[in-house]
Amino acid sequence: MSMEFDLHTHSSQGSACSRMNVWDLVQAACLKGLDGVCITDHDYCWDPRELDKLYSESGVQVYSGIELSTYVGEILVYGVHQPLLNLRGDLPELALLVEELGGVMVVAHPFRTEFGLSTFSREERGLEPIDVEELCRKSVFSLVNTLEVYNGRSSRREIQAAQKAAVILGKKGTGGSDAHSTLSVGSCVTVFDNPVENYAQLLAQLRNGSFHAKKKEEYRNVLGM
Ligand SMILES: [Zn+2]
Ligand SMILES: [Zn+2]
Repeated sequence: MSMEFDLHTHSSQGSACSRMNVWDLVQAACLKGLDGVCITDHDYCWDPRELDKLYSESGVQVYSGIELSTYVGEILVYGVHQPLLNLRGDLPELALLVEELGGVMVVAHPFRTEFGLSTFSREERGLEPIDVEELCRKSVFSLVNTLEVYNGRSSRREIQAAQKAAVILGKKGTGGSDAHSTLSVGSCVTVFDNPVENYAQLLAQLRNGSFHAKKKEEYRNVLGM
């Protein structure tokens, strides 16, 4: 039986940019029929015991990830419950530690900065179209387990580039809403091929490629952004 998880969400407790507290986030996931969510606040690590409590109260599996800001962009780290801020400047060292702890690293919205403002195409701004093949040679892609293909806040062009990159790199891509409000929770998800009963099983499937990304609805939030 496959299971759907939103692997990229932000709570107001851990991300100043989010308007959604963690209880509302979990309730939204429950209403949308998701099997689970990962909370990936910016450079912030939730205490897994707090999230276990939410799981037992809601029936929705709730796991802690981190969206780490690094010099090459943002990286989603799963399965590591310790501050990683001191390793943001040394990606090879970070990758070693995450590997050692059985975690997973995913490049978040990989081509967002390459496109600049997602509402303007590069051509309209007089820029060369991006060369996805060239960008795939960036060393970050050799250090991570995979990349995010469907991000609920990405433009169509960003998603197309990420899909192309996943094919070039021979990696399955993940999906996550990047929700900052309840309306957007579950807009993009990662579908796991096998049942997930705990975080270790989710991480194992991320590591061995037993999943695919799925876009369920257009990104929406209360401000219409
Ligand atoms: Zn991000
Ligand atoms: Zn995010």
